[in-house]
Amino acid sequence: MSVLALDIGGTNLRSMVLDSSLDGYDTIFPGGERPTLCKVERGSDGTLDITAVGSVVQGYIKAGRAKPGVAEIEAIGVSIAGTVDRSRRVVVRAMNLGLTEVELARMLEHAAGVPVVLETDSFAAGLAEARLGSGRGYDPVLFLTIGTGIGHAVICAGEVLRGARSGASVFGHICVEPNGVECYCGRRGCLCMYASGPGVAALARSAGYDSDGESVSRAARKGESWALAVVAQADMYLARALAGALSLINPARVVIGGGAFPPDAERFMRLQALVAERVHPSVEPIEIVPGRFPERASLVGAGLMAEDLVSGKERGEHG
Ligand SMILES: [Zn+2]
Repeated sequence: MSVLALDIGGTNLRSMVLDSSLDGYDTIFPGGERPTLCKVERGSDGTLDITAVGSVVQGYIKAGRAKPGVAEIEAIGVSIAGTVDRSRRVVVRAMNLGLTEVELARMLEHAAGVPVVLETDSFAAGLAEARLGSGRGYDPVLFLTIGTGIGHAVICAGEVLRGARSGASVFGHICVEPNGVECYCGRRGCLCMYASGPGVAALARSAGYDSDGESVSRAARKGESWALAVVAQADMYLARALAGALSLINPARVVIGGGAFPPDAERFMRLQALVAERVHPSVEPIEIVPGRFPERASLVGAGLMAEDLVSGKERGEHG
């Protein structure tokens, strides 16, 4: 079975064909293999150019048909940086892409001629980590993705908990500092203002260091004291939010992925200790570990959903 996975972020569109006849995803994703990456094309009003996404999809479909010995693409999984209503198969809101109430799955099905399944990127990424990554064998799993923003997914008995309005993905907007910094969501003191990549950079600036989030993490790993102090502050806020979440769902494992939280073993140990100080003993022991697919979890998840669609576990317009 061949499926196409697409991940539409605020900056890049990543894509990859997955072929499960190759003995599972361990073979499909050998170390170092990278998905195809191109810039997200936008119209003159700044909104996502859906026709351009359709052209990418059509290119894959044609290439698959032209190559002898390669299975035709049977379905497409799409993860997107936005809120998706799964029952209506609609992008309800994708602020970075300028989309509101867009029937993206139906539009791409029209372009591709194969069924399409659509999901919020942090849900797709959480599914990938729970099924194939660092959350495999643990239930429930709390997955966090820390990058430009902070998203999450709770995966319980193999299913993503989407919430009543598909909104169970906004960990970054948990308030950790009443009367704190104003967030782009319009409220104050949201976690993402302190612990995302830009949040860490802002903490560094207020300490007198003009440095982006990545440079702060790198300096902290080298043991530079100013950077360790900034990271400790960011992680204190993260621990506050995590302690609340752990009391609520008591996950067997917390998995953290995303580009702004590198897999630094010492930092994970320190974060674990910070959280342990803040929770009731009945939710312990706490395990917080790095994700297996730091940069492509949502893409792997999109592929898994497309496979589910073909095997009948998911419903598309054609299914
Ligand atoms: Zn916010």
